[in-house]
Amino acid sequence: MEKVDLYRLARERMVETQIKARGIKDERVLKAMLKVPRHLFVDEALRDQAYGDFPLPIGEGQTISQPYIVALMTEALELKGNERVLEIGTGSGYQTAILAELALWVYTIERFPTLLERAKKVLKELGYKNISFKLDDGTLGWKEAAPFDAIIVTAASPDIPPPLVEQLAEGGRMVIPIGDEFSQTLIKGVKKGGKLHTKALEPVRFVKLVGAYGFKE
Ligand code: SAH
Repeated sequence: MEKVDLYRLARERMVETQIKARGIKDERVLKAMLKVPRHLFVDEALRDQAYGDFPLPIGEGQTISQPYIVALMTEALELKGNERVLEIGTGSGYQTAILAELALWVYTIERFPTLLERAKKVLKELGYKNISFKLDDGTLGWKEAAPFDAIIVTAASPDIPPPLVEQLAEGGRMVIPIGDEFSQTLIKGVKKGGKLHTKALEPVRFVKLVGAYGFKE
């Protein structure tokens, strides 16, 4: 069998056993996870592990999130297709691709130039045209492009960065792992009456969000 078909099969198995089995129901999210070739977002040597139930290293001490966590966070954003989404922590660009499948436009910020350039290249080769990239401290948000209908932070933060709450539209959704550097709780917030109303989703473990409103270097 062709390698491409094997990756397709691996994706189908991933969606069934890791994602649907754990309760993710949003059909659009499931469809996007079936479509995006996750193996292209990791180093060639790691491709055969790309659909495993775990995160993988992507360089600079960072990781591509476990597939289930990507699905869980994406579902929580409740994307219908017409949203402008802000993503903090581009990393491999895999989560970015999932968002680009499901929203109108994705604004993504990464602090490592090497990771940003590689993600940009892969996403361009895959044909995505609805993504804006920025090399910056994402804890400050992206003021010129605000407000956003949804904000996703894919690195762990001690608190919710205030600029991100400001830049979230009324009715907008935010997902962010909050805690210390060893363990966090995935938080979902909805902005109502100018305030973020939060609830806890699941215990998670992410790499650190490093910046003005995150952890210090
Ligand atoms: N969604 C990515 C996750 C990458 S890990 C993926 O699945 O591949 C988290 C990323 O957040 C890392 O690439 C890290 O460099 C980045 N990051 C950490 N602090 C940041 C900040 N203040 N601004 C932007 N990116 C940040």
